[in-house]
Amino acid sequence: MKFCPKCGGVMVPVKQGGKVVLRCTRCGYTMEVGSSRELSVYRVTNVIEHSEKEKTIVISERDVKGLPITRDVVCPRCGWREAYYWVVQTRAADEPATRFFKCTKCGYVWREYD
Ligand SMILES: [Zn+2]
Ligand SMILES: [Zn+2]
Repeated sequence: MKFCPKCGGVMVPVKQGGKVVLRCTRCGYTMEVGSSRELSVYRVTNVIEHSEKEKTIVISERDVKGLPITRDVVCPRCGWREAYYWVVQTRAADEPATRFFKCTKCGYVWREYD
């Protein structure tokens, strides 16, 4: 037994123009006998992409309100010895967190290990 490739209905042999064709009982789709393959192989491939979400750190627009201030640093840009700082877990959880600094004077942002 064959099934309609369009609607899945049952194909039955009918005479059409002097030859026998298969005709769908549901939608009327016809196909020639023997010209179509007996089996349609459906290959469903489910590819689930686990895209490692790159964590974007918008450091330049970091809200510094309420951030602690350290005086153990020197701003690489202006030499000021006072900066806000915060800690960001950059990659995997087992990696050490990175400290970021933002100069209280010029607003320059840099990271501890670069
Ligand atoms: Zn059909
Ligand atoms: Zn600075």
